[in-house]
Amino acid sequence: MIQGLEKRYKNGVKAISGVDLEIASGEFFAILGPNGAGKSTLINIVAQVVSKSAGTVEVFGVSIDRHPQEAKMLLGFTPQEVALDPFFTVLEVLQNHSGYYGLAHNQEWIATIMQRLGLEACALRTGRQLSGGMKRRLSIAKALVHRPKLLILDEPTAGVDVALRHALWAFIRELHALGTTILLTTHYLEEAQQLAGRVAILRDGAVVACDRTEQLLRRFGTRRFEVVVTEDSVGLPFEGCQRSSDGKRIVGEFCWEQSASLFAWLSQEGERLEDVRITEASLEEVFLRLTE
Ligand code: ADP
Repeated sequence: MIQGLEKRYKNGVKAISGVDLEIASGEFFAILGPNGAGKSTLINIVAQVVSKSAGTVEVFGVSIDRHPQEAKMLLGFTPQEVALDPFFTVLEVLQNHSGYYGLAHNQEWIATIMQRLGLEACALRTGRQLSGGMKRRLSIAKALVHRPKLLILDEPTAGVDVALRHALWAFIRELHALGTTILLTTHYLEEAQQLAGRVAILRDGAVVACDRTEQLLRRFGTRRFEVVVTEDSVGLPFEGCQRSSDGKRIVGEFCWEQSASLFAWLSQEGERLEDVRITEASLEEVFLRLTE
């Protein structure tokens, strides 16, 4: 739970102003926003990598002010910048990191996450021998060594190729299905639309929309319709849509609620439908509408 969160950096930049967010246990939550909106700052504060200026943050009810260590144990964090020791092997990194959480016998779980993240073949490679994609996988593996209840991912698929992106999505989905709460920031709106149950859109450090993904699409998105009728006629169901010159095609953009009225109107007018094409609203369009 995040309440009244504020962050002003030393240089005077106000990165977060008055953010309240409540994320339920087991949710898959995405934070979207243009560059500089404050996404990284927000999740860095939750992960205790950046200090806040004001407000409260609780992780599963544990305050990061009163019980910082306990709160830290509950979450795993994959920062945007992958910083790995160049001289340790993948296996050593994961063993050392387990040690940090006081887990001496973690081999079985380490083997599982390496396998699921396709890191097995690189187990004995050092950080500097890893490709960018492998570093990203290792960074996610590190965040998971202590089986956190909350996994925070800052742009997990930025700069990774399509195949790896889909592999990571599948794995993150699986973790979510097993009960892990997921909080991620992403630039890929398609990613948020496909994965997240709920989305917050951040602009200039404030939440401009926060809702279930399909609710956002309903509220702010438009469906594009093209209706082909068998007879040429002249009526129009709504302002803003158009008839083609032969009268047989009605093209327009309708919000969710209007789509039902469109079909009611067509039937009332006795228009016989030959074809209907619908382009669904996308989160990208909602995002642009709310952030531009
Ligand atoms: P996003 O992740 O949405 O791109 P950030 O949280 O990185 O946004 O940045 C929010 C604002 O805070 C930006 O104006 C950025 O320049 C500023 N900012 C981020 N990190 C720092 C820092 N360490 N010191 C000063 N300003 C920062």
